Amino acid sequence: LELNRKELNELETRCKSLVIDSDFERFDELPLSKLTLEGLQKSNYVEMTEIQRKALPLALNGGDVLGAAKTGSGKTLAFLIPLIETLYRREWSQMDGLGGLVIAPTRELAVQIFEVLRKIGRRHSLSAGLVIGGKDLQVEQERINRMNILICTPGRLLQHMDQTASFNCDNLQVLVLDEADRILDMGFEKTVNAIIDNLPKERQTLLFSATQTNSVKDLARLSLRDPHYVSVHEES
Ligand code: ADP
Ligand code: MG
Repeated sequence: LELNRKELNELETRCKSLVIDSDFERFDELPLSKLTLEGLQKSNYVEMTEIQRKALPLALNGGDVLGAAKTGSGKTLAFLIPLIETLYRREWSQMDGLGGLVIAPTRELAVQIFEVLRKIGRRHSLSAGLVIGGKDLQVEQERINRMNILICTPGRLLQHMDQTASFNCDNLQVLVLDEADRILDMGFEKTVNAIIDNLPKERQTLLFSATQTNSVKDLARLSLRDPHYVSVHEES
């Protein structure tokens, strides 16, 4: 794969100069790699939803984001795009190991996120895997270290942290907590806290939730650093 130094430098500069009130409406107005733009186009994603318009410039700029918007508002792309782009701009390769981690409350949600990642990331050479349990632990243990991006459920991820000696998160760049309210409602608070304890402090964290409960705010305090708050309210 041809490495486009000029494109990477230009993306880096444009991402650094993104401002909070940047008024973009379409994905192709954002500083995104050609590979991601092609993936989005092929999946018929052209105009951004409101949560994407608000969260993407902040996340591409490198900040932590706490995002709240109801189900169906397009939160998945609001975190997958920055995750892919950060690894791409840092020239992430097979050898660099785990760079992006997404935690979702259920297997079904993890699978859905994985499918979106496969669609929009199809032109990238990053490897990605699901860690959701229900399958042979040993098979996962053999594969888990070859992945640049993992989409996980909390219990299974912590199991690997405890039991898979070779599992290494030291290089992690981006952590995503999706549906944080549901993760907590399902009783995963301690599990998620233990996971976060195992991750490098120097990272970007994106936390998305349908609602902003007090327990979500507590988790945000533990996992995010100077977060930008973005929320989309329903119009009446
Ligand atoms: P949420 O996570 O907020 O519940 P999703 O990310 O699952 O929402 O997106 C909900 C639906 O909207 C999905 O079918 C997705 O393909 C679609 N969608 C998301 N963003 C866009 C967009 N920018 N343009 C068109 N459809 C979109
Ligand atoms: Mg979602």
